[in-house]
Amino acid sequence: MERIQAVRGMNDILPGEIGWWQQVEEAARRIFQDFGYVEIRTPVLEKLELFTRSIGENTDIVEKEMYAFPDRKGEWLALRPEATASIVRSFIQNDLYADPLARKFYSMGPMFRHERPQKGRYRQFHQVDVEAFGIDDPMLDAEIMFMLRLFLQKVGLAGVGLHINSLGCRDCRKSYRESLRVFLASQAEGLCPDCLRRREVNPLRVLDCKVERCKTVLETAPVLLETLCDPCRDHFSRVQDYLSRLDTPFAVDPRMVRGLDYYMRTTFEVVTDRLGAQSAVGGGGRYNGLIRDLGGPDLPGIGFAVGMERLVLLLQQQGGMPRRNARFFVATLGSAAREEGFLLVQRLRSAGIGAELDYEGRSLKSQMRRADKLGARFVFILGEDELGRGEIQLRDMREKNQRIVPLGEAVRHARTLPTG
Ligand code: AMP
Repeated sequence: MERIQAVRGMNDILPGEIGWWQQVEEAARRIFQDFGYVEIRTPVLEKLELFTRSIGENTDIVEKEMYAFPDRKGEWLALRPEATASIVRSFIQNDLYADPLARKFYSMGPMFRHERPQKGRYRQFHQVDVEAFGIDDPMLDAEIMFMLRLFLQKVGLAGVGLHINSLGCRDCRKSYRESLRVFLASQAEGLCPDCLRRREVNPLRVLDCKVERCKTVLETAPVLLETLCDPCRDHFSRVQDYLSRLDTPFAVDPRMVRGLDYYMRTTFEVVTDRLGAQSAVGGGGRYNGLIRDLGGPDLPGIGFAVGMERLVLLLQQQGGMPRRNARFFVATLGSAAREEGFLLVQRLRSAGIGAELDYEGRSLKSQMRRADKLGARFVFILGEDELGRGEIQLRDMREKNQRIVPLGEAVRHARTLPTG
């Protein structure tokens, strides 16, 4: 029979790498909860309009990368390409803004973009996502970057840089857009066809075009950071001040724009030089105005997303996948001991102690080999003789010693053993 393959760019996450995924997910939960964030889970399928209205019609994501299709009734839907829009939608739809506590959210799950797959870039990928609504203070901008860095540190990632920029507000962007338009008009012959169109409808989008010749043109383009209005300039300088006081190193990158329309003021990216062409591990920014534009109250917002595949790739390069195998193995000899061993394994598990056994009645030698391969720290060994005496052998695989304990005391005894 012909085998059915997974869809191109959509990967299985296999046992050989799951340890890293779980490490990332657990660190995210622990740290974000410490900072007062609560988990939210939204559907992967949304109405297409949610993304066209929030991310923006003339962005790469909406124009080129979205999995959008009409359902059986002809309603246009899309697989989510990112999480912010969905979380804002849910926040508004469920009146979550009525609860002053539930304004900081995190989420984890698959996103979908029809990009050309390569290392670190897939069509289904996963993000850890964080969003905070209702707070405009630059303190929060700095705190969220501090939290992002702490998260990456706790996961065990070394050697990433934090780049920050300010995209200003609608007011200071208005005059910038005009000077950019004038600049782009003088550079028509150097731009790709997409940018020739974009410079009319949404000139800011030209700034993050990935085509080489556009990038060259943009090296001499006017810089938004230099034309910020006073309140935006003040906000950005206070963000930097807080970051310094939080001992969070950063670099200001005035040419960094992010590929979504809703960002304003602070934007940031965590970058690495160890993933080839895909240098961004995560990124985010402020999006005051988005909640209102999606029909909610006029509350400010800020958030970020980290790509889990890229994080896992980096952790893999560092080596040593964390494994959490059963600490105990129960090896038995003879059919009566096997029956008893089976019950003992279930009693250990019920007591919250990870345990494994051999279901197939193999030789004691091969059971011991299996225990070793699984990385079990302790092995209970039960033969007919021990069973007759109501005893069981307990071997410490690390210390390489063995002792006898009463069979009825096995679980209680297991509880007292070191967990390391
Ligand atoms: P973005 O929403 O584009 O700012 O992406 C945030 C993060 O998600 C990036 O920094 C990447 O780590 C990750 N990411 C974005 N697109 C992809 C993709 N196609 N494949 C894998 N990871 C991605």
